[in-house]
Amino acid sequence: MRMSNSLDLLFLSTPVGALGTGLGGGVELTLKNIAQAMQERGHRVRVIAPEGSQCEGIAVSTVPGTLQVTAQTQGRDASIELPPHPVLGAMWEKARQQQQPFDLIVNFAYDWLPFYLTPFFEVPVAHLVSMGSISEAMDEVILNSIDRNPASIAFHTRSQAETFGERTRNCTCLGNGIDLSLYDFCETPVDRWAWVGRIAPEKGLEDAVAAVARTGVALTVWGKMQFPEYWEDVRRRYPEAKVEYGGFLPTQALQEQLGRCRGFLMTPKWVEAFGNVTIEALACGVPVVAYRRGGPSEIVRDGETGWLVEPDRVDGLVQAIQQIDKIDRRTCRRQAEAEFSIPALGERVETWLCRVWEPRRHRGHGQL
Ligand code: UDP
Repeated sequence: MRMSNSLDLLFLSTPVGALGTGLGGGVELTLKNIAQAMQERGHRVRVIAPEGSQCEGIAVSTVPGTLQVTAQTQGRDASIELPPHPVLGAMWEKARQQQQPFDLIVNFAYDWLPFYLTPFFEVPVAHLVSMGSISEAMDEVILNSIDRNPASIAFHTRSQAETFGERTRNCTCLGNGIDLSLYDFCETPVDRWAWVGRIAPEKGLEDAVAAVARTGVALTVWGKMQFPEYWEDVRRRYPEAKVEYGGFLPTQALQEQLGRCRGFLMTPKWVEAFGNVTIEALACGVPVVAYRRGGPSEIVRDGETGWLVEPDRVDGLVQAIQQIDKIDRRTCRRQAEAEFSIPALGERVETWLCRVWEPRRHRGHGQL
């Protein structure tokens, strides 16, 4: 169903990195794809993002300031901190000043401040939560926002939402989506496996490397080198593994390389909120071997588009690697087309945003 009114939407990006640098992780692609999906449905989108941001086909206003430290590198009881001249504060100040012509603001940042500021805004603010529960302070502010207005909070997956507990049960789960025209289906792979993600401990690269060391298959790792010392440590622990680093590539080059791989390993140590790379692999026809944990466990169809393995069990990964030829690559592409296209995502996001916007329209604020 398509809504009859077109909305003016203001998107607030993550303050941990400029769009296009990879520092923002999956949020960068998510924001771009949701903006594209909403524009394709006739809505207007403007983005506020840190200085240096680039996002093709989307109007971006950039703001200078010091980047925020990523929440997942802090402990569970860490305090909320802001550096001097925070880009996060500057982005939300700009949103406050420019809010009036917009119907809705959509927050993509996993940060305390936007949740706290929401009741002080005249325009409604919807929040897409991009990670699971990792800090007490964030849990508190997110749950308070849910209690105030459950419709305004969305997650990617049910397993992600559940990390915040029972109070999330009425919140929307959006999944995610990609522009499938940018991902080519590759029918005949070479003898190589892929691992794609930020090189960071929560992503569990060591288990993938341990598994390829035991099976003797070759593995290429693509992604932002966030923690070089972690990479060195993994390499030192498994010197016999045939592993190479392929760099951080733009989507076009990434999908070309990824598509040729026989299989894709997804071995996170945390509850992955979604795992964009999972659907990117499926879109190229690459079967996914993933731990049965978080987002990938809701995406991969065990035995059809990959194998789900008991979390943290390298022997399970080894077994799945040996059975990868039982998976039909065309089924992988078909799943991506059916569930994770831009139109499918656009419909889910529009339904969510209407739920946030509609009550306000009935109160007479809507620009109809
Ligand atoms: N990515 C990329 N180039 C690379 C490797 C990764 O553009 O060489 C992107 C990938 O497309 C995905 C993001 O990095 O959108 C990783 O997102 P994901 O949701 O898998 O994990 P996150 O980093 O958010 O935890």
